[in-house]
Amino acid sequence: MIRLFALLFVLLSATCFADSEFTLPPLPYPADALEPHMDSATMIVHHSAHHQGYVNNLNKAVSDHPQLEGKSLDEILSMVSQYPATLRNNAGGHYNHLLFWQVMAPEGEGGEPSAALSAAIERDFGSVDVMRERLSQAAVSTFGSGWAWLVLDQDGKLQVGSSANQDNPLMDDSDMAGTPVLGIDVWEHAYYLKHKNRRGDYVSAFWNVVNWNEVNRRFDEAYSDIKD
Ligand code: MN
Repeated sequence: MIRLFALLFVLLSATCFADSEFTLPPLPYPADALEPHMDSATMIVHHSAHHQGYVNNLNKAVSDHPQLEGKSLDEILSMVSQYPATLRNNAGGHYNHLLFWQVMAPEGEGGEPSAALSAAIERDFGSVDVMRERLSQAAVSTFGSGWAWLVLDQDGKLQVGSSANQDNPLMDDSDMAGTPVLGIDVWEHAYYLKHKNRRGDYVSAFWNVVNWNEVNRRFDEAYSDIKD
C-alpha cells in the first residue's frame, strides 16, 4: 500500500512539474501560409528549431530557480534583471516569438488597423504610413540581432523603438517600457535563407502579412490595462 502511495505521489509530482513547464504551441497557420512574403523553409526552422530552443532552455533556466516555478512569462519578464542572462534570453525569446507568430497572418486575412488604433497612431505619429516608416527604420537600423517594436507606454502613448538580442519592453530594466502591440524579429535567422543580408527586403515583405486584427486586440487590451 505504501508503495502504491509512493508511486501515485511520483506520478502526481511528474504531472504537476509538466504542467508548470512552458511549451511551444503550433504555428497558428500552416508553415507555407505566409508565402511568398515569409518562406516556409524559414518558418519551419524558425519555429521548430529556434523557438523550440528558447522554450527548452527557458524550462532549464526556470528549473535552476525553484522560486520561478509556476510563474507566468509576464511575471518572469517583470523581474528578469535579478536573474542570469540565460533566463533573460530564453524568456524573452519565448515571449517575442509567441507574439511574432500571432501578429502575422496570410496576406489578405489580417484586416486593417481599427478605428481606435488608427486614431492613436494618427495622434502619436501623424499617420499610419509615418508609423510604418518609423517602425521599418527601427528594424533596419537595429545593429546586430534584436527586435523592433510598436509599444503602448504607461501614459497611453504609442512609441516605436528597438531592443537588442531577445530583450523586450516588458523587461523590468528595459530602456523602452510598455506593452508591445507589434514586433518585428530582425535576427538573421528570420530572413537569411530567403533574403540573405537584405534586411530591408524582409521588413518590406513583413508589412504584407501583418495581422492587424491581432494588433488591434493587443492595443485594446493594453489600453484597458492602463485605464484600470
Ligand atoms: Mn527569431
